[in-house]
Amino acid sequence: MKLLTCSLLFACTALSAATSNAATVNTTIPTTPAATPPIEPGVLRAHLALLSSDLFEGRGTGQRGGDLTVAYLETQAAALGLQAAGENGYRQAVPLVGMTTLAERSSLKIKLGGADANLRFGTDWIWSSALPEATQRFDAEVVFVGYGIRAADENWDDFKDVDVRGKILLMLTEEPAPDQAEPNRFGGANLTFYGRRDFKTAEALRRGAKGVIQIHRPKHSIAPWSIIADAAVLEKFHLANETERLPLSAMVTQTSAKAWFAAAGMDADAVMAKAETRAFRPIALPVRVQGELQQQVRKLTQYNVAAAIPGTDPALKHEWVIYSAHWDHLGIKPIDPAQPGADRIYNGAIDNGSGTAALLAMAQVAVKQPAKRSQLFLWVAAEEQGLLGSAHYAAQPLFPLARTAAALNLDVLNFAGPTSDIGIAGSERSDLGEHARATAAAMQLQPAAPRVDAGGGFFRSDHFSFVKAGVPAFSIWGGSQYLDNQDARTAERRQFGGRYHQLSDEYNPKWDLAGMLQQAQFTLNLGWRVANAPDLPQWKAGDPFGKIRAASKPGSSQSSAH
Ligand SMILES: [Zn+2]
Repeated sequence: MKLLTCSLLFACTALSAATSNAATVNTTIPTTPAATPPIEPGVLRAHLALLSSDLFEGRGTGQRGGDLTVAYLETQAAALGLQAAGENGYRQAVPLVGMTTLAERSSLKIKLGGADANLRFGTDWIWSSALPEATQRFDAEVVFVGYGIRAADENWDDFKDVDVRGKILLMLTEEPAPDQAEPNRFGGANLTFYGRRDFKTAEALRRGAKGVIQIHRPKHSIAPWSIIADAAVLEKFHLANETERLPLSAMVTQTSAKAWFAAAGMDADAVMAKAETRAFRPIALPVRVQGELQQQVRKLTQYNVAAAIPGTDPALKHEWVIYSAHWDHLGIKPIDPAQPGADRIYNGAIDNGSGTAALLAMAQVAVKQPAKRSQLFLWVAAEEQGLLGSAHYAAQPLFPLARTAAALNLDVLNFAGPTSDIGIAGSERSDLGEHARATAAAMQLQPAAPRVDAGGGFFRSDHFSFVKAGVPAFSIWGGSQYLDNQDARTAERRQFGGRYHQLSDEYNPKWDLAGMLQQAQFTLNLGWRVANAPDLPQWKAGDPFGKIRAASKPGSSQSSAH
C-alpha cells in the first residue's frame, strides 16, 4: 500500500486502523494510537503453535528441526513479499563446529592427592572442550583463583602475580558480592559482564590456562544442577572461525569441590569467604585433571534468515532498523536408557518460539506500511550456543553496522497476559531510550520499573552482539503489571522459571497472548519510529559502547556493503 507520510506517528492512527481488519483487534488491550497496523492475534498464535509443536523437534542447531525452521521462515518471508536480504536468498550462512562430549569413552579423571576422586559425569561434574579435536590428553594441576576476575575499574585482581600457564583454573561462578562497605561493587545486585562465563574464559585463555572448572553453588546459579547435567550430553557449537578455544570447560558440584579444599587441609567456606576480598591470592590444590577426553567433532553450516522491507526515502533507505529473534532452541536430547519412551523434545515455545513467531506476525503488517529507512527482520541461529548467529552477523553484517540505526531483539515473550508496563531496560544507554518512552506513552504503557538484573540480562541475548559492535540495541521485555488478576498472572509467569531450558517449555493453547501481542506491537512501533526519525540514534555520552560506534563512522565502516 501507499506510504503514509505522517510526520507524527499519532496522526497515522486513523489511517492505519482503517487499513486493518477491525475484527482481529484484541479488545483486551487499551485502544492505543498505533504507529503501525495492528498485529493480528491469530497470526501470532498460529506461528507460535506450529513452531513449538513436536513436528519442529525443538528447532535444534544442527538438527532436522533447525533445518525445517529455516525453511519455514524463508517460505513465510517470501509469501509475505519481504525482500530476500541474505547472501543466498534469505539465508546467511553461519559456519559452525559441533562437538559432543563422549563421557563414557573418555578416561578424564580428577586425582585428589594422587588417588582417583571417583567423580561421576553428570552427577558430580560435567565437562566439554572448545578445541575441535577428537582426542585430547590432560595432566594438569588445579589452582583455585577465586572468581577468576581481573577488573581494573573495580580495582580487583584475583590472579595477582601468579603464573597460571598450563593450569586448570578452579573458580566461583559470577562475581564478588556487594558488601556494606561497597554496596555497589560489581554492579551491586546486578550481574556485570565480569561475572559472565565468556569473560572468565577469555581471561583464562589470555593467561595461557588449559581449562576452567567452575564451582556450581546452587544459591548463586540461575540454573539448578539438573539443567546443567541435562545440557552436558547435548552437542555444543562454536563459530568455525573462532580463534580463542579453551581446551577444557568444566563445572563441579559444590559438594565435590569442598572435598578438594579439605584434601588440602583447608576449610572451603573460609577460602570462599577470602575470595570475596581483594586480598585473595590463587591457591594451588593437591588436585590434578588427568586422562583422555574424547568427543565427536563435525563441521556444519546453520543459517540466519534475513528478510527486508526497503525504505522509501532515497537517502535514508541505505540505513537500517533490525528486528532480531533467535529461531533456535535445544532440539532433541539423546535417548535416556532409563526412560526410553520419555519426551525428548525441547519445544522452546517461549524460548524462543515466541520471539520467532512475533517477528513473522510483525513482518506481515510492517510490509503494508514501509518506513523511510529500511527494516530488516533477522531470525538468528544458535543463540543458545552463545549468541553465535548474531555474533556472526555482527562480524559479517549484510548491511553496514555504521548505518544500522538500531537492533531491537525479542527473546522470551510475555505469555501471562496484557500489562500496563513494558520492559525497556538497556534502552537508556542510547537515544533509543527517548524513542522507547515516547512509543510506550503513545500506547499508554509505562516503562517497567527497573528490576534487579541478577542474571546479567543485558549480556545474555542477541542484542548484545550488536551492542558490542557499537549498534544501539536492547531486548524488549514483557511488563509485569497485569491489567487484571495480578496475582494469578504473576504466578503463571513465575512458573516459567521452572520450565526455562526444560522439556516442559511447551505451548499451551490456553495462554492469553494479549501481552505478547502488546510486546510485539511495541517493538514494531518503536522500530518504525526509529526508521522514520530524522537522525540515527546515538549512544549517551560516556557509554563504553559508544566509542565503538564512533570508530565505525559511515565511510570508514568495517562492514561490507550488501
Ligand atoms: Zn532465548
